[in-house]
Amino acid sequence: MLGYLLARRGVEVTVLEKHPDFFRDFRGDTVHPSTLDVLKELGLLEEFLALPHQKVEAGGVVIGDSAFRVADFRHLPTRCKFIALMPQWDFLNFLSSRARKFPSFQLLMGHEAVNLIKDRRRVAGVVAKNDGREVEVRADLVIGCNGRHCVVRDAAGLVCAGVGMVVTAGVCGWAAWKVWCKVAEAEGRSGLRGAGRDSARTAVARG
Ligand SMILES: Cc1cc2nc3c(=O)[nH]c(=O)nc-3n(C[C@H](O)[C@H](O)[C@H](O)COP(=O)(O)OP(=O)(O)OC[C@H]3O[C@@H](n4cnc5c(N)ncnc54)[C@H](O)[C@@H]3O)c2cc1C
Repeated sequence: MLGYLLARRGVEVTVLEKHPDFFRDFRGDTVHPSTLDVLKELGLLEEFLALPHQKVEAGGVVIGDSAFRVADFRHLPTRCKFIALMPQWDFLNFLSSRARKFPSFQLLMGHEAVNLIKDRRRVAGVVAKNDGREVEVRADLVIGCNGRHCVVRDAAGLVCAGVGMVVTAGVCGWAAWKVWCKVAEAEGRSGLRGAGRDSARTAVARG
């Protein structure tokens, strides 16, 4: 997204992705109303919503034999009053395809940043590995957004202040272990399906 925004302003931008594709299963199916607002502001919403997705306007939880409604997005002061359920790789493929339309945008798939290029004490670019070869990508500004195990941050000598595990799809974050698996769709509904004292089950219908 940052690459898209910079390229949109005409900044020469090169995005490195170590994998040959964006296929990381179970990395987020919920595209939230606030994100949909951003897509609207960027003029991308209509095209985005033309992709296969499911709309979730409300969510509930079943505790024991009782069902409760815990969220109703139809009252939100946003343009889209729903969560769009779409696999993250569809979202990233869409965003990168639109970014590629800007002449100043370049996406290098299969390029793993392994080190920083330093010019005296200044960071002057990135050393990346592609097909076993080392490639130098020089830049005025290097932004490390390579997830939890951030090579760029480590190479810059920056210390992480602490990363908690936050469930972004929830109303609030909580420390938790998550286990993801695929099961056959039983009822054709998404949502929080069962919550006990120590555990909860969530089902996301993926079509
Ligand atoms: C199980 C799970 C479920 C989630 N569900 C949701 C959800 O439903 N909705 C939601 O909004 N959020 C969800 N999230 C959170 C969401 O996935 C993250 O907030 C989001 O992916 C963070 O984006 P990012 O770009 O900062 O990092 P990442 O998505 O981790 O992206 C980092 C990218 O950098 C690449 N990379 C890593 N190292 C290098 C390197 N050295 N060189 C080049 N490339 C590199 C990685 O391959 C990756 O593509 C979920 C997260 C998890 C783990």
